[in-house]
Amino acid sequence: MESKEEFQPHVPDAPHGTGPLPRADEKPRARKPQIEILEIRDDFVKFVLSNTDISMANSLRRVLIAEVPTICIDIVEIEANSSVLMDEMLAHRLGLMPLVSKRVDMMKYQRDCDCQGGCEMCQVNMSLDVVNVKDEPMLVTAADIVTEDNQFDVKPVTTRTLQEESSSSSSSTELAASSAGQAAGVNTDIVLVKLGKNQELKFTAKAIKGIGKEHAKWSPVATATYQMEPDVRINEKEMESLDENAKQEFVASCPTGVYYYNEIEQRVEVADPLRCMYCQECVRKSEELNIPNLVSIAPKPGRFIFSVEGTGSISVDQVVMMAMDALAGKLSMIEEAIHEEIEKGGMMDGGDTGSTYH
Ligand code: SF4
Ligand SMILES: [Zn+2]
Repeated sequence: MESKEEFQPHVPDAPHGTGPLPRADEKPRARKPQIEILEIRDDFVKFVLSNTDISMANSLRRVLIAEVPTICIDIVEIEANSSVLMDEMLAHRLGLMPLVSKRVDMMKYQRDCDCQGGCEMCQVNMSLDVVNVKDEPMLVTAADIVTEDNQFDVKPVTTRTLQEESSSSSSSTELAASSAGQAAGVNTDIVLVKLGKNQELKFTAKAIKGIGKEHAKWSPVATATYQMEPDVRINEKEMESLDENAKQEFVASCPTGVYYYNEIEQRVEVADPLRCMYCQECVRKSEELNIPNLVSIAPKPGRFIFSVEGTGSISVDQVVMMAMDALAGKLSMIEEAIHEEIEKGGMMDGGDTGSTYH
C-alpha cells in the first residue's frame, strides 16, 4: 500500500516469522492462527496464514504435500501391449494418473485391512481392453479406463468428472482449458498411449489408498508453497527528489509489477506488494540511482501467503481442511505420548516441575 507517512525502513523484531519477543516481565501469549482466503477455485487456492510462526507454516506445507491421502493405481497386470510404450513406462504413467478421491476418508489403507490381498473396503479394480482397427492412430486416454462399481466413487479424473465436480460457485483452470480444448475439437483427457493400426492394449489395475510420503503419486497437490508476506515501503521524501525518467526507470526495474507510476500525480506507488518475490532488483536500482534507502523490502513477521494447486483428485479446499486435521491428529498423538510418559513416571513425584499439559 502506498504510504505518505515518514519513511520507516523495516527492522525485523525477531528471527523470521517469530514476531516480537515477549519482554522479560511479560508471559508469552498463546496466539490464535488465522486464515484469510485471497483467491479460490476448484483446483487452486491462495490464502494468508497469520498469527503464527514459520514452524507452523512449514508443517502445514509438508502435511499438504505428503500426508493427505488419495487413491492411486498401485498394481498393474498387463495382458497385451503391442504399443510403442514399454510395460514399465505404461505402469508408471498409470500410477501418476489422478483418480477422483473425494471419499478417500471412507476407504481403508490396505495395510490396515483385515482382508488378504484386497477387498471392496481397501481396493478399487480397473481395466482397459482396446484394439485400434482403424487406419488412423488412436489415442487411449484416462476416459477409456473401465472402473468397477465402488462405494468411494473412484474413477480417473477426466474432462467429464471435472465438469461434474465443478460447482456453480467456483471454477477451475483445468476445466477452462479442457472446455477450450473441446471447443477446438481436441481430446483433452490425459493420454496414456497412442495406438497404430492393429495395435492393442489390455490390462487390469488395482487402486489403493496411500500418502505422498510413501510415493509422490499419492500427493493431492501439484504444488504447495508459501512465502512470507512482503512489506514494501517507499521513502517518499527521497522518491520526490527523482526526476520523472528516474521514477519510471525505478518502476520498470521491478520484474513483477509491484510498483505503478501515477502520471497525474507524478509519483511512484506500490500497486500490489503481494507480487514481490524478494529479487532485490528495485534495491539495486536505488543503489544505481545513488539513493540506497529509496525503498525497503522485508518480510512481515508471522504472515505467510500459501499457494496450493490441486491435481484434480480432491478439491483444494478439502485438501487444506484434511491437512489441518492431519496436523491436529499428529499433535494429539504427541499429547497422548506425553500423558503416557507422565503416567509411567508416577506423575513425576507429584508434578513438582510445575508443568501443565493441555
Ligand atoms: S524485490 Fe523484486 S519483486 Fe520485490 S518489489 Fe523489488 S524488484 Fe519487485
Ligand atoms: Zn481389504
